[in-house]
Amino acid sequence: MIKMIDKIKLSNKEKIRLFLSLFHGLKTVYGTYCTKSGKHWQIKEKVTERIIENHLMGRQPYGFYPLVGSKTTVGIADFDDLDPLLPITFIKRAEHYGLFAYLEKSKSKGYHVWLFFPENGISATNVRLVMKHILDEIDSPNTEIFPKQDSISNINSYGNFINAPLFGKLISDKKTIFVNADQWSKPYSNQWEFLKSIKRNSDKVIDSIIDINNLREKNQEIENKISKDTTPIGSRYGLPVCIQKILCEGVVFDQRVACFRIAVNLRLVGLPEEFAVVILNSWRLKNRPSENKRIITPDEIKEQIRWAYSKDYRGYGCHEPIIKSFCNKKCRLYNFNNSK
Ligand code: SF4
Repeated sequence: MIKMIDKIKLSNKEKIRLFLSLFHGLKTVYGTYCTKSGKHWQIKEKVTERIIENHLMGRQPYGFYPLVGSKTTVGIADFDDLDPLLPITFIKRAEHYGLFAYLEKSKSKGYHVWLFFPENGISATNVRLVMKHILDEIDSPNTEIFPKQDSISNINSYGNFINAPLFGKLISDKKTIFVNADQWSKPYSNQWEFLKSIKRNSDKVIDSIIDINNLREKNQEIENKISKDTTPIGSRYGLPVCIQKILCEGVVFDQRVACFRIAVNLRLVGLPEEFAVVILNSWRLKNRPSENKRIITPDEIKEQIRWAYSKDYRGYGCHEPIIKSFCNKKCRLYNFNNSK
């Protein structure tokens, strides 16, 4: 039987501190979700022990933003499948490289594989390079990795939050708990003992995996190819890189402006209005509006698309704060805009 986390004595600060030492990132913002609707949002508040207590007791889930500048203390591969075979294969491959990796049954239908690094963090670029390499090796290149970015490039961006494990309410359903990869995902009977036994991976091991496999050179080749694709016209799918990024990552503010600009760009590359509706309705779920604001609704999306398709709008919206916050200097328009 799993020793339930909701039995912890909350006076026991050690447990909360142990938890925070493993699952932390930005200190003044965190994420949460509604357990009924699944809706996610961001809370701009200091992360305190009280918030962790609420999470462990099952009152309110806590998710953290792992990227601090360009550093991270964790790397997570998010597998979306009930079958643990792929995440276990990832762990075995990671172990082959001398890495310690741990398996968590996530809150929904899949698994998270966690890698932990020293508490002051190591290069997120390097962590992502190694994790991408392992995912390529196990033929699962599209599996999501957290942190999703190499660095936070501006003050409006926090990256993406990852839900922390051991949310009290879900433990009795055997969700958000750590499971043993060597025993076909059998839950660890004592989750606290397990947390205490976690081993952190050093940056030296990460560096040596990168060197042995020439990952920097390989990544540079890919970057070079992508950089040729960053012009607004004639780029991959014909979309400017800022719009591609917004579509991939979602936004935390100015959802309507972002929606309108995406729709304009989809029209400019020749997509019919009904395709824009499908694309933007799937995009809206990636948005993480701050301060308890709600996610843009399908009706609001429809309205923005209708406007975008009603006239021959041509602007990329480079001046709009939300578009600007995803701008990429390699874009051909960047120099043009900034030389005026
Ligand atoms: S200059 Fe920046 S904001 Fe404008 S289209 Fe290019 S990437 Fe987007």
